Amino acid sequence: MNKPKIVILGAGYAGLKTAKQLQKKNVNAEIILVNKNEYHYESTQLHEVAAGTEPGSKISFNIADVIDSNKVTFIQDEVTLIKKEEKKVILAKKGEISYDYLVIALGFESETFGIPGVNEFSKPLVDIKTAEAARQYLDTNLANYAKSKNEADLSIAVCGAGFTSIEYLGEITNRIPKLAEKLNFPADKVKITCIEAMPTLLPMFSEKLGTYGIDVLKKRGVNFIVGTPIKEIKENTVVYEQEGELKELTANTVIWTTGVRGSAVVGESGFDERRGRVVVESDLSVAGFPEVFMIGDVSAVMDGDSGRPFPTTAQIALQQGAYLGNALAAKLNNQSVEAFTYKPLGTVASIGNNVGLGNVMGKEVKGYIGSIMKKNIINKSLVTTGGTKTLLKKGRFDYYH
Ligand code: NAD
Repeated sequence: MNKPKIVILGAGYAGLKTAKQLQKKNVNAEIILVNKNEYHYESTQLHEVAAGTEPGSKISFNIADVIDSNKVTFIQDEVTLIKKEEKKVILAKKGEISYDYLVIALGFESETFGIPGVNEFSKPLVDIKTAEAARQYLDTNLANYAKSKNEADLSIAVCGAGFTSIEYLGEITNRIPKLAEKLNFPADKVKITCIEAMPTLLPMFSEKLGTYGIDVLKKRGVNFIVGTPIKEIKENTVVYEQEGELKELTANTVIWTTGVRGSAVVGESGFDERRGRVVVESDLSVAGFPEVFMIGDVSAVMDGDSGRPFPTTAQIALQQGAYLGNALAAKLNNQSVEAFTYKPLGTVASIGNNVGLGNVMGKEVKGYIGSIMKKNIINKSLVTTGGTKTLLKKGRFDYYH
């Protein structure tokens, strides 16, 4: 009898963790892992690549190096469509593949909310390529100033003030003095503006902790404009609404970090989704398709306390991947499967290399201790997805400065 075929789409935190867990469980199944790139990248560290503090190679590693090819077949290809009624997936190069079980872990895209000009005139931070493009764009504009003397070349606008923006601001404010020496521009003339639609910054933290984080960035020269939704991006200009009036900010570097949505393939494949996310059943399967599972940024797991889905994070994606690897192994052995439960361990955001802030196991952390916590979280994630060798090569052990 043929072995059951498990196809995993995406080798981000969720998909790679599922593959590794199934591998560990030695399941009697054919396991196929499909990913667009030959590498996995730690999407939580993209802000470092975009600011130029780390190269893309530091936050990524080859998938083939961390899976056992005797147990998991890796296909580098792009998923274009899922035909759930036919139990088939269409890949751009390889064409159609069939499955008995499907794990959809296709990750996130930048959310533009349909705001005009975003795709044309700003840079998102969603993968290694876009983060490297954002770094090139920032460096080119800053370097241009030496010839142009145009202040817009030194003006940087960061759209949205979520964690991605805050972490990116932390990195660039650390790096500007070094860049100023290298690229020959006056560091004190750099203007960094962060524009946020909501009236409160870092609302997920206590007021004291949030204020601490924002004050660190303000002291490094960041100007926050809050309660001001961005309405349009024009060439070198951000248009935002303030007290009912449209205002313009001139900046030659415009970074788009206003949030993320799940992969467009989910909607295009006819799943019942909202912003690319599907509310999943208690075993992470899709209603009406018990053999199809959604994990990571394409899935919405409801939080019984708030009545809203948990935010999409690497932490929940890794927990979903571990759970699903175990759950599929149990299903194949005709064992019962318990419901997925998310155990939030806390959240830490970095503000450059040696400041961090957040909550860990119910306790607030900030400053240097916060930065150590953040590096420990990065290292834990690396060992979970890439194993000990990857941790030793790519981990963060630069604790002292
Ligand atoms: P986000 O949704 O958390 O933040 C986006 C911000 O942009 C929000 O504050 C929103 O109000 C603002 N915004 C949206 N539209 C706007 C507009 N038109 N004008 C101005 N502001 C606008 O998105 P993110 O920062 O990309 O994070 C995505 C997910 O990843 C979140 O769940 C986040 O918690 C997680 N994340 C976690 C970490 C960490 O734990 N250190 C780091 C990065 C991201």
